[in-house]
Amino acid sequence: MKTSNFPVFTLKNDPSDTEVISHKLMIKSGMIRKLSSGQYNWLPLGLRVLEKVQVIIRQELNKIGCREILMPIVQPSELWKESGRWDQYGPELLRFKDRNKREFCFGPTFEEVVTDLIRQDLSSYKQLPINVFQISTKFRDEIRPRFGVLRSREFIMKDAYSFHSSQKSLDTSYELYKKAYNKIFEKLMLDFTVVEADSGNIGGKESHEFHVVADNGEDDLLLDKDHNGMSAEIAKKKFKEDDLQKILSKTKMDLKKGIEVGHIFKLGTKYSEPMKAKITDENSKYQPVYMGCYGIGVTRIVAAAIEQNNDSRGIIWPKSLSPFEVVIIDIDSKKDNKIKKHAENIYQDLINSDVDVIYDDREAGLGNKIKDWELRGIPHIIIIGKKESSDNCVTYKTRNDDEKRVIELDMIKGVIAGN
Ligand code: ATP
Ligand code: MG
Repeated sequence: MKTSNFPVFTLKNDPSDTEVISHKLMIKSGMIRKLSSGQYNWLPLGLRVLEKVQVIIRQELNKIGCREILMPIVQPSELWKESGRWDQYGPELLRFKDRNKREFCFGPTFEEVVTDLIRQDLSSYKQLPINVFQISTKFRDEIRPRFGVLRSREFIMKDAYSFHSSQKSLDTSYELYKKAYNKIFEKLMLDFTVVEADSGNIGGKESHEFHVVADNGEDDLLLDKDHNGMSAEIAKKKFKEDDLQKILSKTKMDLKKGIEVGHIFKLGTKYSEPMKAKITDENSKYQPVYMGCYGIGVTRIVAAAIEQNNDSRGIIWPKSLSPFEVVIIDIDSKKDNKIKKHAENIYQDLINSDVDVIYDDREAGLGNKIKDWELRGIPHIIIIGKKESSDNCVTYKTRNDDEKRVIELDMIKGVIAGN
């Protein structure tokens, strides 16, 4: 990829209407642009990071036998009336009518649609368990959309659903998802914690939340020094005490802020019973299926990762999420064809070795180019000018260090892989 065919949207100055660092850096580095309140366009740079998150999620869900599907985003009200949520959900549910005056909503979550989908083909316990997921756009008419993609109205969520013939089978799957989620957040290289949680609007019995620990989080967590602990809501219930300070002084925990990036629920028969998603069991008796649901905030993760990894220059991507591994910056290549050729050769060589490389071939000063890529958090920077092309080498620096060193061509891949 070259910047000549990869539009660059970096801002020189800080955007004015951003309250948190991730929102500021995502706008400034050219990852996203606002459409309207709580709605964002994803630019090529941002989309590459979003795709990396999705690849990791897909890998781990495939490993536990969860299959990908895709459901329509606009949902008919009839299903929501069957479950009883049409009246319960409140103004977060964006409702509208089609030309025939039929009522619809824009899906904030998909329990109704997936229950309807699976019940159509369901007859016997022998078909279960079934595990499906999708990665798709959700819409919630949030009362206070804020912090960019951390709390937006339109966002991408991974939602998985499981169907079982017994509570025991649901319990087993739930543990598998919990493990897969741990693996996903480890692979994303985030500092996270798992806490017991309230099930809120979705309903059901047992539930756990996954939080990225960050100062700008909206949720209160009581955590020990290894970041194990519980949510403030649960702590209040457990200790029968409303004053968090009193709970903190009783326990050896600290008050931390968390960004909720994942939430898993044991739904039981909350949806299958009213919606009549039934099977015949071993004794040919009808029974509603047991269900679980498992969400991950895909777009929110990108911002949460930035909240955890930044400095005064910009974003510091964890290896797992960086939109590119390495950037090649040339100096004055328009004036000197030898420089251009040298940079091209190295660029092609890295592409041939499957290194995720972008070549900044813009006509701009070295200082400005470096500043842009440090803002965008690319871990490895290769600089090629007159000296490098005549000595057949490159100058190398990392994102976080000002020290530049000259390295031989056959060392480049080793240096990139080693850091
Ligand atoms: P929150 O408490 O932050 O409003 P929630 O508990 O209502 O979230 P869930 O129904 O559990 O959300 O949805 C699953 C996941 O989707 C959440 O864990 C979160 O990561 C993500 N998510 C929910 N609402 C938003 C939003 N408005 N913007 C971005 N991501 C969201
Ligand atoms: Mg939740």
